[in-house]
Amino acid sequence: MRRRCLWCQQPPLEEVAVLKWQGEERERLTVKLCRKHMKRLQEAGDEGREFKGWYYKVGWW
Ligand SMILES: [Zn+2]
Repeated sequence: MRRRCLWCQQPPLEEVAVLKWQGEERERLTVKLCRKHMKRLQEAGDEGREFKGWYYKVGWW
């Protein structure tokens, strides 16, 4: 089981349902994020946050 944030080495604050997308591709995942990255993802809203060519946002819809 993963003990670190998806995007850094910090311990995760919580597990969150995210939508990951690229073009027409959609993936619904549950990922662990640290406080900083959780905040950034929430702030990105529906626009999402890009990471290595994929966009992420909170929620599965
Ligand atoms: Zn992080």
